[in-house]
Amino acid sequence: MISQRASSINPSLTLGVTATAKKMRQEGKDVVSFGAGEPDFPTPPNIKDAAIRAINEDFTYYTPTAGIEPLRKAIADKLRDFNHISYEPEQVIVSCGGKHSLYNIMQVLLDPKDEVLLNTPYWVSYLEQIRLAGAIPKLVSKINEKIDFDNMRKQVTNKTKFLILNSPANPDGTVSDENELKYLADFALEHDLWIVSDEVYECFVYNGIKQISIASLNDEIMEKTVISNSFSKTYSMTGWRIGYTAGPKDVIASINRLQDHMTSNPTSIAQMAALEALNGPQDSIKKMIEAFDKRRMVMVTRLNEMKGIDCKIPKGAFYAFPEIKNTSLTSMKFTERLLNEENTAVIPGVAFGKDDNIRLSYATSMQEIEKGMNRIEQFCNKL
Ligand code: GLU
Repeated sequence: MISQRASSINPSLTLGVTATAKKMRQEGKDVVSFGAGEPDFPTPPNIKDAAIRAINEDFTYYTPTAGIEPLRKAIADKLRDFNHISYEPEQVIVSCGGKHSLYNIMQVLLDPKDEVLLNTPYWVSYLEQIRLAGAIPKLVSKINEKIDFDNMRKQVTNKTKFLILNSPANPDGTVSDENELKYLADFALEHDLWIVSDEVYECFVYNGIKQISIASLNDEIMEKTVISNSFSKTYSMTGWRIGYTAGPKDVIASINRLQDHMTSNPTSIAQMAALEALNGPQDSIKKMIEAFDKRRMVMVTRLNEMKGIDCKIPKGAFYAFPEIKNTSLTSMKFTERLLNEENTAVIPGVAFGKDDNIRLSYATSMQEIEKGMNRIEQFCNKL
């Protein structure tokens, strides 16, 4: 009854674990969740007000599929001022969240049997989205948090269409420095590959580290790069579902045609909220980064004090990705037992292609972090 394509897709573990934790809470259990990465801060009031205004002013009809012109322009302005890349508004399309933007990109760039280079650990949905397009993910493990170019070179074939760059990265918090990006750009150009650059965590970098958009390096690489981004993390707007794609005009035009038949426009009200997010005050971002930075250090310090756990300090995003291999448990077993025995939810590393690790989001309150760390410590002591 169900198509092969749909039957072959695995559910998202990031969303699955989080849903289980929420359900347990509804049943009255005192669950600490380090599951899905979503800021615990509320959406800033000016953004909420813009949405309420949109409703009251009846801005509740279809908009152009690609999003309202002022929003596409504001995104292009942001890409110029913040990322130092010059795009026309027609080179930007608004979608229903970052995940939708990435899905669109896979659908318009990939033909069946094409190959995609994917660094491990990778975000869970890249793999399934590549497969949904009929293409084949070629995994390349990072070595010491760096892209392994020797292995990339071995994996590249005449079927390789693009590579995915995610910096700052989910789940391991790595951030590519300028040298790595230059090397990656040269590698892509040498092999005539596209770069799909998922920049959703661009604002979340710590200790003065700089996030650089690979498309800003030079015009040649800009023409081979498609950027995916979203309002979810930066403005704490996960539920609003607004993301965007920027890239060469023909790629964006193809996405527009696809989106015409798939979703039409993203929600009109949420688009007005996103416009206010870009045009209004930006101080909420700074506040979040400062809070996450403190939580990051508390979480990593505590994790490293635990038996069998080894955690590198993440440079960006908002996840810790500790190794648990000395506990002798698989990541799935560790996660299941921790949830059942200590009411604490984390994501198994196997979702990201690394069974030796678990992922914890530190976009949650310090109080929850302290409580959850006590529980994980207790769990590790028991093993
Ligand atoms: N991207 C976030 C995460 O990795 C949200 C959940 C999801 O869409 O995967 O936790």
